[in-house]
Amino acid sequence: MHHNILIWVIDCLRADKCFTPPADKPFQGFPLFQRRGVSFTGCYSAAVNTTPSMTSILTGCYPFVHGVHKLTGPRLAPQYPSLAQLLTDKGYHCRAEVTGPLLPALGLDSGFHEYHYRSACEHIFTGWGDQFLAGLRDWGRDQSSFLFLHTFELHEKPVRDKPFDTRLYGATEYDRTLYGVDNFARKLVDILDLDNTTVVLTGDHGEVIARRDFYRKLTVINRTLFKYRLKGRAFTVGHGYDVREDLVRVPLILSGHSCPHGEFVATPVSHVDIVPTISGLVSLSKSHTGSLPGVNLLPLADISPADSRPIFFEACDVGGTQARRRRIGVRRGRYVLFYSLDEKDDVGELYDVERDPETRTNLARREDRVARDLSDCITRFIKKSESEARGQAIEGTELSELEEKLRSLGYM
Ligand SMILES: [Zn+2]
Repeated sequence: MHHNILIWVIDCLRADKCFTPPADKPFQGFPLFQRRGVSFTGCYSAAVNTTPSMTSILTGCYPFVHGVHKLTGPRLAPQYPSLAQLLTDKGYHCRAEVTGPLLPALGLDSGFHEYHYRSACEHIFTGWGDQFLAGLRDWGRDQSSFLFLHTFELHEKPVRDKPFDTRLYGATEYDRTLYGVDNFARKLVDILDLDNTTVVLTGDHGEVIARRDFYRKLTVINRTLFKYRLKGRAFTVGHGYDVREDLVRVPLILSGHSCPHGEFVATPVSHVDIVPTISGLVSLSKSHTGSLPGVNLLPLADISPADSRPIFFEACDVGGTQARRRRIGVRRGRYVLFYSLDEKDDVGELYDVERDPETRTNLARREDRVARDLSDCITRFIKKSESEARGQAIEGTELSELEEKLRSLGYM
């Protein structure tokens, strides 16, 4: 039989929302993947914006290395070995189904035999979703295949699936949409042959969700009419502007072929671990992945303890979002530290996320030694990474066209 790989990235999917639905309204689809796999409850995305984060998922590198910092590039250098290229070389047929800002101009199509970009209105609750599922029945039957699926229903103005669009399924549009996405997950499990398919389910970054939909609408008005001039908590929803836990913590579920069943792992892991894990599954040569910062997450017994490696994440300067500062953070052991790169004297925010998961108490001054250690760790990381950076600038007419397209999609 052929071995297939599906990476399903659900835009804006937060770890807590995926793993802990209300007790009286459990999910029906996500748990099917969890039962047939291992769920990492402490996964960090490498970036809080779609394009840099997706590039990290596909290359196994942090944005500081692959260089794709913004929605407008730089473009991933063509010689750079993305997962699609590695799997193509191994004989897999590679297809991407993407939307949002993942336009082919960014170079993420590298290595894919087919890179289908669709408009965000073609989503899983429309005919597109039915067509996609129908096509999946024959997927990977004749050749080992890799499918990279990006779905966008939770993003910014969540689109709801009618049967779940009632208060029974949550007070916010985000919550109600999530039940529709979970229902799609249930349909996927029905179709996929998990004995021969490895599924990686994750979010590209988290999301700050307004307590009420009214506040989310206010932020849209603020952006449109006042260009973000109105500040304050009511106006900070969405993602892209900071590296708080609810923005960087995403679910990571490895399910199906070669995965242990029904395991939950709280050890911090990262999106940069996905490429080494898949490389291990399909026995890729270490020469491709040996220099990557991530680790193979299977078998579970080999995962290093939490305090042995730092995990980095960043908010890039995306342009057109709530803030243009560049924020960077690290998780090591029980602590996270983050600060702004552009503010020289910023001592940052330090939290003990095991004791204080909602990051209420900033320990940066009280535990200044820990803060200094982690800050040095970030400085070393930046120094090493910048000597490797290899994105390709997008310039001139090509840049104007890309900006125009992103503007029409509501990004700038
Ligand atoms: Zn995204």
